[in-house]
Amino acid sequence: MAEPVAFGADGLTPFLSIPPFAGASVALWARSEPGTCFAIDSLEDSEGRVWVSKREAGPYCTDCGVRTSIAQEEALFVLPSGEGFAPRDGFTVRFGLMACETLTPLKTGGAPRLHLAWLPRAHLPERGRLSLRFLVSRHSMLLGQPERQRELLERVNDELEEAGLEVTLDAVAELPDASAETRFWTTELDELSALRERAPPALDATVDIVFAGCLRHDDPFFGPPVPVDGFTPRVGGGAGPASAVFMPGLRCDAFSRGPAQWPLDAYARVLAHELGHFLGVYHSVETDGTTDLLSDTGEQNIMNPNPSRAGARGWSPSQRRQLLSHPWVRPAHALIPAPD
Ligand SMILES: [Zn+2]
Repeated sequence: MAEPVAFGADGLTPFLSIPPFAGASVALWARSEPGTCFAIDSLEDSEGRVWVSKREAGPYCTDCGVRTSIAQEEALFVLPSGEGFAPRDGFTVRFGLMACETLTPLKTGGAPRLHLAWLPRAHLPERGRLSLRFLVSRHSMLLGQPERQRELLERVNDELEEAGLEVTLDAVAELPDASAETRFWTTELDELSALRERAPPALDATVDIVFAGCLRHDDPFFGPPVPVDGFTPRVGGGAGPASAVFMPGLRCDAFSRGPAQWPLDAYARVLAHELGHFLGVYHSVETDGTTDLLSDTGEQNIMNPNPSRAGARGWSPSQRRQLLSHPWVRPAHALIPAPD
């Protein structure tokens, strides 16, 4: 853990050096102050190759060689090896301020400071295990239905099998007084955070799956609020506001009819897709044609922006590497019999 650094008058931190390490990936844990948004402005490896050369407007960079998302207050940036990038040889990184309201680079400085810690990972596990907690509101078809919750978990595991990842359900809690409708946007996450306010304290390295009411993505620059099938506030979860996966319980157009009865297969596929986002995987192809930076993915992939589509199945080896690089994924060891 290094000393905190300041964002200077140009909105940029100094260059920070991550030393070489023995391993497959590294997670950068960056913390600033509430209300501060920032992004990676520069990423250069030990051979002088530049992977990120500037901050770009938007929720994540599209032109950079290593894609990461905008951070608000605090975030985990998980950087696996692959596609030419080898973090184990060491690299330098610099962060820059972003305007939370417009997702554009801020060229003026301020007082905020940034703390950076890095966590190298020596080996990618052959198979990984991720712990989940279900937070269930009264708007969800899963409330008081342990059998159905288990069935959902099984089907999520069917979707994750190819990626070598298994999820376990380690706690379930009810969410009292969850509102019937929640609106949010990339950096407008207060309503999502409020859903979890009355939940028991978060568990260590456990992803909260919040089964809420109707969920509407409300982009202030683009049309009316749109109902979504699932939402993960930041690609690369694990730190920062509303760091969880949110699933709808109500259809936005049918409040009076109570919890929607989503077909479990489709619902499980969306949940697996959202877990992909939480662990750092982007859409294989965005609706505007932007592709991810992985050379082995295409439209026929569970990270298709519409995971309910029939052909949206499966994970590629690069996606698997990204999933298993997240520090919350633990090795899934085979069971070794205890000695007598
Ligand atoms: Zn998605």
